[in-house]
Amino acid sequence: LNPFVRGKRFTSLLKTARATFSVKNQAKLAQKLVHIPHRKMGQMETAEASQKHEAKDLIKDTPRGLQRRPYDLKVGDTIHGFTVKSVEDITDFNIKAFTLEHDETGAKYLHLDSADLENVFMVRFKTFPNDSTGIPHILEHLSLCGSKNFPVRDPFFKMIKRSLNTFMNAWTGSDFTGYPFSTCNEKDFNNLLRVYLDACFFPNLKRTDFNQEGYRYEFEEPGNPDSALQIKGVVYNEMKGVMSNADRLFLHKLSEHMFEKSCYHHNSGGDPNDIPLLKYETLKKFHEDNYHPSNSYFMTYGDLDFTNNLEYLNRNVFTHFERNEQNQKIELEDRRTSPKVKTEYFMPELVSDAETQGKLGISYLCNEVNKDNYETFCLYIMSSLFFDGPDTPFYQSIIESGLAPAFCPGVGYDTSTKEGTFTFGVSNITPSNENIRKIQKAIDETILQ
Ligand SMILES: [Zn+2]
Repeated sequence: LNPFVRGKRFTSLLKTARATFSVKNQAKLAQKLVHIPHRKMGQMETAEASQKHEAKDLIKDTPRGLQRRPYDLKVGDTIHGFTVKSVEDITDFNIKAFTLEHDETGAKYLHLDSADLENVFMVRFKTFPNDSTGIPHILEHLSLCGSKNFPVRDPFFKMIKRSLNTFMNAWTGSDFTGYPFSTCNEKDFNNLLRVYLDACFFPNLKRTDFNQEGYRYEFEEPGNPDSALQIKGVVYNEMKGVMSNADRLFLHKLSEHMFEKSCYHHNSGGDPNDIPLLKYETLKKFHEDNYHPSNSYFMTYGDLDFTNNLEYLNRNVFTHFERNEQNQKIELEDRRTSPKVKTEYFMPELVSDAETQGKLGISYLCNEVNKDNYETFCLYIMSSLFFDGPDTPFYQSIIESGLAPAFCPGVGYDTSTKEGTFTFGVSNITPSNENIRKIQKAIDETILQ
């Protein structure tokens, strides 16, 4: 149906169409088939006045940006199975923040209402690994390999090409897995929302995809059972790359030794040595336990009406689940009375002398990041004052003085763990005992200053 066709041909076309569709449907259909500004449809001379109005009303643009309708929600209100827990004005950013909780499942939702046409969605699950088989990371890959309503190969990557998104991704953190996207287009937002939610809550998780994305054994010479076995797999290879990077390995080892009780002890991305220990059934169970509404956090931002998302979640996703009471917690670490010293080895880079590629890190366990925002804020400022720029005391005492050419990876205050860490250290040094003693002394003296 091409609404640009004017005159007799269009009139007869319209008459024929009327036999099957109401004007409402025609307008809807036309809107779907040809992307023209909606108002042009209302100017069709051929439609009768009343029908014209009807069609016009139906295809009116949703008011966007500053013209958007304000929400009539206050604390305690219930909407689509959710209860409003808080409403807060964040005046500095012209944002109104709504937090809600789903009554049946306990799923949490945060919406940041803004005039911004850029709209963001993210769903996050707590995924605490209890080994280094890379289970959260492999699951993240696998859930994007086809789901109940989109049983095609890689629906996620197909959407990257065909949608109007401004950002699409999925992340595995050390204690969470998140699936974010953003777009300015309402239709696109709803499409992506459906694909993302289906991928997270109803993925197919096929064994063949597990073998492709996780790991599998293959004969070195395909078809020759006498040749040696080798391990292959997307995540397996990805992590081989990550762990052979000295900086990434340094950060992993720092975390492994600092955290002894919590999930940060393990490598959520997967250690290539441990990945082949993962069983397919364990991964399926991990999904069942963790990708559950009771363990989920939703976040949206922008000018689009977020209550539509609540309705969709309540009606199409959460009805398939019952509340899961297990509330996983990250254990706090015991405080040490003396330092723990560890030496680790890595593959040196070929570009420079292996003897000068040593790294030294002295890390302190700090506060519970979310418990005391003021302390967290102060530690951030302290970190910046210590290390950012050539006038800072550590730059002067370590770099400028010639003790080391660079700081170590992850230097400063880090809040990516439940309890933050503060790290001092250097890179590209000769790791002799004398050198290490000198640098330790300089760090201690600079802190005391
Ligand atoms: Zn990956």
